[in-house]
Amino acid sequence: KRRIGVMTSGGDSPGMNGAVRAVVRMAIHKGCEAYCIYEGYDGLVKGGDMIKAVGWEDVRGFLSEGGTLIGTARCMEFMQRNGRLKAAKNMITKGMDALVICGGDGSLTGADKFRAEWPGLLQELVDTKQLTQEQITPFKHLNIVGLVGSIDNDLSMTDATIGCYSSLARICEAVDSVDTTATSHQRAFVIEVMGRHCGWLALMAGVSTGADFIFIPESPPSENWQDEMCSVIKKHRAMGKRKTIVIVAEGAHDQDLNPIKPSQVKDLLIKKAGLDTRVTTLGHVQRGGTPAAYDRMLATLQGVEAIKAVLDATPETPSPVICMIENKIVRRPLLEAVAQTKEVAKAIENKDFARAMELRDAE
Ligand code: ADP
Repeated sequence: KRRIGVMTSGGDSPGMNGAVRAVVRMAIHKGCEAYCIYEGYDGLVKGGDMIKAVGWEDVRGFLSEGGTLIGTARCMEFMQRNGRLKAAKNMITKGMDALVICGGDGSLTGADKFRAEWPGLLQELVDTKQLTQEQITPFKHLNIVGLVGSIDNDLSMTDATIGCYSSLARICEAVDSVDTTATSHQRAFVIEVMGRHCGWLALMAGVSTGADFIFIPESPPSENWQDEMCSVIKKHRAMGKRKTIVIVAEGAHDQDLNPIKPSQVKDLLIKKAGLDTRVTTLGHVQRGGTPAAYDRMLATLQGVEAIKAVLDATPETPSPVICMIENKIVRRPLLEAVAQTKEVAKAIENKDFARAMELRDAE
């Protein structure tokens, strides 16, 4: 029986458990054995009890649980070849040659690197007498399939990442709560949301709550944004609006890449717009809690597709990442998706914001 491992890695996101459940159950449904790898790459490097065979019942109740029940970690050892050598040995010892990884672009890059090195790693394990030729022979090729777990919706080539709609829902609830008190007191609130290189959460939260002004990294405001923001807000107030909401993505900056901080926006609203202003930083509340229905569905459909991709894989197929494009579950080359994601960050770094927006639109 084919043995397929599943793990979660990098930052957690709501819906990761649904992905683990779907991978485990689809693997069993297809006549394979499923293994959970605990605490991300740490578990793969340490082996032993950190890699366990799991049955249908072991993932019962996972669908509605937030975070990741099999744990996640940032693992320095896996960044080094020696860590990946230990990981390869553990996989062979457990009889696994396929991995489904739910994580961000870092985790997926690491996985593909592991796959590229796999034949060399196995040879080294034989040369150093840690494994025999007979042990490695059945496991010539490593199969990697990526699922994107991230609240930021920051991976190219997919319309949605597992967790982004839960986070957006959480942000909207929080802004709604702030709205009521802002209206009572006619106050302004500057709300910081997550997203270091990606403004999706800030943009969609702005659209979904009718915010007055937003700041996102891909499209910085005009050079005289201070005046522009204040005049937009004054106009809204003149039309009878009793509250003001400004949403700032964590990674927001101006055209010269100087960070735009919520405290700075607050000071402006006090001094230039004459508004009683407070700052609310939503922080990790945005990452936690129950997954929204969309993320449960996305995680389940993608987990099922991940097992199909493992079973279809040939040594020539590039590692796929499972995406959602125009409401269809599709496979895309993992490395291309990661490369395009990095290109957005690079365009921002080079102040080529038109290119950054073009790349985001291309998804
Ligand atoms: P994310 O997956 O959310 O982007 P990280 O970038 O922190 O999060 O990556 C998670 C883990 O993936 C790292 O701690 C490391 O173990 C592994 N990893 C990331 N990048 C690489 C890489 N280039 N080579 C090998 N392993 C990597």
